[in-house]
Amino acid sequence: MFEMVDACRICGSPDLRPVLDLGDQPPANSLRADPSEVLTPVPLDLVFCGSCRVPQLTATVDPGELFDRYVWVTGTARATHEYSHEFRDRVVDAVAGPDERPPFLVEVASNDGTFLRRFQEAGWRVLGVDPARNIVDEAVAAGVPTRCDFFDRSVADEVGEEHGRADVVVARNVIPHVKAIHSILEGMAALLDDGGTAIIEFHSATRIAGELHYDSIYHEHLFYFSITTLTALCERYGLLAFDVFDSPISGGSKVLLLSRDDRPPTASFTDALIEEAASGVCEYETWARFGEESRRHAAALAEAVRERASTGPVVGYGASARSSTMLNFAGIDVADVVAVIDQNPGKQGLYTPGTDIPIVSRVEGIPMLADDGVVLLLAWNFAEEILGGLRSDGVGCDVLVPLPGEVRTIRRADEWRS
Ligand SMILES: [Zn+2]
Repeated sequence: MFEMVDACRICGSPDLRPVLDLGDQPPANSLRADPSEVLTPVPLDLVFCGSCRVPQLTATVDPGELFDRYVWVTGTARATHEYSHEFRDRVVDAVAGPDERPPFLVEVASNDGTFLRRFQEAGWRVLGVDPARNIVDEAVAAGVPTRCDFFDRSVADEVGEEHGRADVVVARNVIPHVKAIHSILEGMAALLDDGGTAIIEFHSATRIAGELHYDSIYHEHLFYFSITTLTALCERYGLLAFDVFDSPISGGSKVLLLSRDDRPPTASFTDALIEEAASGVCEYETWARFGEESRRHAAALAEAVRERASTGPVVGYGASARSSTMLNFAGIDVADVVAVIDQNPGKQGLYTPGTDIPIVSRVEGIPMLADDGVVLLLAWNFAEEILGGLRSDGVGCDVLVPLPGEVRTIRRADEWRS
């Protein structure tokens, strides 16, 4: 079901240094209908490669097990939906497409096709590739051409033969998640037409280290890239980074633009590299400190939750992979949290892995708060959207916000209830 590495997956160096051991945890997306079903715990241990400077996990879970029936559906979060418009506009502006025909865009791990639809609306020809059968069926039914496969070099070649080479190849939040990272990058480079642009979005290691996003460490998330380390890796496949922009996804992501031609770097790209160098994200000491601070933070969070649980019900919000890590690592379970609200109907009625908390709809969860309850905002990276929703439902209880930075409480009748 899983295997351990003893050398870096990126460069092969055996110099893997300890950062943060989050203990043995079941894979974060293994939500189940029967809480008595036993899940296999897998080591969740972050290490740092002293050679290529990429933090990564020691265990690789069999991808079939992780992605076959993937429950994360892009379109369910409103913030993501809004961002898909912004992303499209940025890409359309940055990419000079061919004049004689609509540009052709391929998205790796296209999920339900939310992002591809934006490009269809702009008149582009698109193709998605995604390994999750249930989600591919949804995308195809919604009119987004999607192939059910793990994207790699051989799939890239087949796509190129069948549909022609692509003007743009997009990989949003997938490169850090795949064991076959080398084959994907090779495939992206091969599928790009001359003058084409590759676009890679990833959760920024600088933000992870700086704001203690230890909850972004889960088995699917194998690598923790900075612009510097990802740029170096892509160069090996002839993909040269020349531009970057920020994304709000995951509480702070970067979108890197690359080309096979040597394009002059933009000012934002040069500035971002300077900023990154100053942050120390490529230094082991930064990650060792991140490990220490994460342990302290998780202990403080557990204490805050138990204190609240002793006076009233605690209801979580957001049954994501990230919240699974946070709950398991902090040792918060169904004894402390009565339920977790999640808007995704595919998750409702199931139980959180390792912590056995029932996942409920908002309609079910809000009454559980009663008069003395508190919301534990597990999906803190969607804080604005969730607080807005609670406010419009007339919920006015305290909200415990774990991240970014220190644990904080938004008090009842304080700033957020107006
Ligand atoms: Zn390495």
